[in-house]
Amino acid sequence: MKLVRSYLTKNPCYTAGDKITVKGIMLHSVGCPRQDAASFVEEWNDENYDRACVHAFIDGFDGTVYQTLPWNHRAWHCCSPGNGDYIGVEMCEPAGLQYTSDFTFTCEDEETARAVAQRTWDAAVELFAYLCRQFGLDPLSDGVIISHWEGYQRGIASDHEDPEHFWKGLGLDTERGFTMDRFRQAVAEKMEDAKPLYIGCHLSSAGGFEAMGKAALSIGANTFAFFTRNPRGGKAKEIDPADAEKLREILTKNSFGPLVAHAPYTLNPCSSAAKTREFAHMAMADDMKRMEYLPGSYYNFHPGSHVGQGSEKGIEMIADLLNEIITPEQSTTILLETMAGKGSEIGGRFEELAAIIERVHCDEKIGVCLDTCHISDGGYDITGGLDEVLAEFDRIVGLDRLKALHINDSQNPAGARKDRHACIGEGQIGLDAILRVINHPKLMGLPCILETPQENLTGYGREIALLRGVHYDE
Ligand code: FE
Ligand code: FE
Ligand code: ZN
Repeated sequence: MKLVRSYLTKNPCYTAGDKITVKGIMLHSVGCPRQDAASFVEEWNDENYDRACVHAFIDGFDGTVYQTLPWNHRAWHCCSPGNGDYIGVEMCEPAGLQYTSDFTFTCEDEETARAVAQRTWDAAVELFAYLCRQFGLDPLSDGVIISHWEGYQRGIASDHEDPEHFWKGLGLDTERGFTMDRFRQAVAEKMEDAKPLYIGCHLSSAGGFEAMGKAALSIGANTFAFFTRNPRGGKAKEIDPADAEKLREILTKNSFGPLVAHAPYTLNPCSSAAKTREFAHMAMADDMKRMEYLPGSYYNFHPGSHVGQGSEKGIEMIADLLNEIITPEQSTTILLETMAGKGSEIGGRFEELAAIIERVHCDEKIGVCLDTCHISDGGYDITGGLDEVLAEFDRIVGLDRLKALHINDSQNPAGARKDRHACIGEGQIGLDAILRVINHPKLMGLPCILETPQENLTGYGREIALLRGVHYDE
């Protein structure tokens, strides 16, 4: 599903800013033939257009979904109170239809019309599965997924054209089973392999574990990252087992995804200085013990900088450290972070990560954390060719190794090797590309950690809401 955010920022529905408690999703068809969603978005994005607005349009040409409002924003026929709980989604209708009455039409180009219907159906199934997952809705429960017509019968929508009349008119009800009942089933089937969006940011560990859990909840996060010790190095704080227990309770109760701890930046296993290498060994060994208080988490580290010794030598030294540290008993998976490749950094190329992993004996405890800013800086064009980048990663490292994502925009264009993070949507990667990353079927379910230069938790809360496509309350 290609989801493009295209908010109706001028429409009175948007500017009113009212929130809804999402109880279900309503599938409309436009009711006037036009395949292209962009023209609707343009037409409805007007401060004087107070007749209608919905949350999304599905384009009939290519199946692109244009999200036109935050999902939990009041919409549809401008805030009429009866419609307060449903997300409204329009499927554009083939341009060739000619209505002869409200519910019947003729069609001069049936082949195109059927192709349009199929594309909008497929995109709608994916979108509804995504939304049901996001809002914890069961697509088969009564009143969760309804058509415009079913909405009318429930007294929450007007009497107007509807997806079923459109499918029926093209004979797709009998030919392909396009009915609302089949649609609900298709959404339920799609949800079987769908996974939740786990998203969070780096949190300060200064107040202990439970405090981090509470901070995460306060900003709508369901995963987070934290430094196991001062990011610039040094000794770690004593762990209070009761405090760790309280965090574990929060995580379970709120269905968090795996946490992604971060090793100190100063940890460099391939330094030329023995003292630095000793610190790397000490810190990682100690961190592995500490991580067992949060079993099953990830521990991410920057592979290292070879400082002129050559990447081959560096790769060997990194693998040596991992072989000394990793035990088959540990529950933590250690993640190598993809790097921007600045200076003598190792991990700017997928080949280098693969070479490290290849040398690690206990290889089920090792994975990769992909940082969007870093790989873009490293020259992998995720804005223009995400599928190609993932295919390359799969070929060289293997997608089954990919366990977590660092979600950052970049201040610099692809290939810059600068490693300067930007807030989401304010850099060269862009919001649409980031949305494609976090919703990509091959990446779904991986914990997504924001490392953007936000000034405070509220900033991260807003960014999380932005990526979930919802309205954020401060
Ligand atoms: Fe990092
Ligand atoms: Fe990172
Ligand atoms: Zn970075």
